[in-house]
Amino acid sequence: MLKGFKNAAELDFTLEENAKKIEEAFRQVDAEKGKIYPLIIGGERIETEKKITSISPSTKEVLGYACSCSQELADKAVQAANEAFKTWSVAPVEERIRCLRRLTALLEENRYILDAWNVEESGKNWGEADGELCEALDFFNSYAMHMRKLAEGLELVPTDEDTKCTYIPIGVGAIIPPWNFPLSICGGMVASALVTGNTVICKPSSDTPIVAYKFIELCEKAGFPVGTVNYIPGSGSDIGDYIVEHPLTRFINFTGSKVVGCRINERAAKISEGQRWIKRVVAEMGGKNAIIVDSSANIKKAAQGIVNSAFTFQGQKCSACSRAIVMCDVYDELVDAVVDCAKELKENQGSGRSNAPMGPVINENAYKSITEYVEIARQEGNIVYGGNYSDAEGYYIEPTVVRDITRDARIANEEIFGPVLAVIKVESFDEALDIANQTEYGLTGSVYSEDRENIQKAKVQFHVGNLYFNRKSTAAVVLQHPFGGFNMSGTDAKTGTSDYLTNFLNLKSITEDL
Ligand code: GLU
Repeated sequence: MLKGFKNAAELDFTLEENAKKIEEAFRQVDAEKGKIYPLIIGGERIETEKKITSISPSTKEVLGYACSCSQELADKAVQAANEAFKTWSVAPVEERIRCLRRLTALLEENRYILDAWNVEESGKNWGEADGELCEALDFFNSYAMHMRKLAEGLELVPTDEDTKCTYIPIGVGAIIPPWNFPLSICGGMVASALVTGNTVICKPSSDTPIVAYKFIELCEKAGFPVGTVNYIPGSGSDIGDYIVEHPLTRFINFTGSKVVGCRINERAAKISEGQRWIKRVVAEMGGKNAIIVDSSANIKKAAQGIVNSAFTFQGQKCSACSRAIVMCDVYDELVDAVVDCAKELKENQGSGRSNAPMGPVINENAYKSITEYVEIARQEGNIVYGGNYSDAEGYYIEPTVVRDITRDARIANEEIFGPVLAVIKVESFDEALDIANQTEYGLTGSVYSEDRENIQKAKVQFHVGNLYFNRKSTAAVVLQHPFGGFNMSGTDAKTGTSDYLTNFLNLKSITEDL
């Protein structure tokens, strides 16, 4: 069945014509800077007094203003989604899939402008932004494919009764996506809910509301009916708990921090007055991901993989490596190789728009928190590379490599979500696995080894949702490396899969005696 599926290919920006097109898109972004983005509720554009300012992390320039949703308007959005659910939930599956196909086409048509907005708002470079767009295309194509198959229902034992077991949509979903993949994760969360016949209220991250707005506009253009998708940016303290606790909210799909994810899970478990179901929570949270390097590893390859995993998009991926756990006999060699690989990144740090290999971190708060960890790292180990930072023009932190970190150190255990890599020395492969597993998280992990016994052992004992060998821990590809984590990393809803869609469906078993 997967034979017909093809992952989208990234644009090659070394080609002049592609580079020209994105430059042109940046000029279009410039012309649109400073605009106000209204809420979209039941198809209606609503402006509010209170605004969220979208700021470029690369330059601190104001990109635009998103209207901030109040509880009253959030209720209006839930009601609109609930109303739309009545018809959308019974719309033919083919119609839902058709809308998703049109959305895919619209994404391709608007590729450069979406990439350009993503670069400006999240601080990614061009390749990272376009890679994200490809992931969004892959999500849409995979969900369309899976939904067609799920629509056939479950296979049952034939009897002399007429029996069927069909998947049906469940209701209104609160979609709370992150800023680090403002198009693909937001898009995947919205599209999976819509194609399964549900309706949504989408509260994008306050750091990337414009990319989300552009995406929701495309959903409307794709033909998803009025009210099926509502756009309500707002601060967590204003409307976060409110939409989670609303009695008409049927499910919550969240990607973000552990603290917020746990709060959502707790709040969603409480039954509000008038609520008629147990809410489902799909959550993808943090990670404290490790890459193990044993004595048999190809050290150069391992160093490249570690640097790539730790520092691309400034370490701001849940999948990013923040611990390298290295056998003592190759420790010094590995540290030197990592420093060597990181050089190119540090020397070329710059804005997303300049397409630098490494850019800024997302905002002032992130800058403060990560730089505090850089200072903790200075106390806890030896910074052998990077360690400097500046917020004069944007929020820039050098790729920072810290050696001689012990397993109990704070930077060996706390999620930093920035470009800080702790390198830990071990005496045995068992100790390496033990340290890798000591975290409460369980998202990604990677092992560099040529030793079959160690590889086999890690396959069983390294407890993470996405385990890689002799490869970086980031950049999972849809339907090649289904993505989602264990333990405090989330509910292990593997994105891009058919399983993922069943989070938003009920099974109805129907039997007629003939
Ligand atoms: N799926 C992405 C990867 O494999 C990470 C997603 C995230 O940061 O939430 O790198």
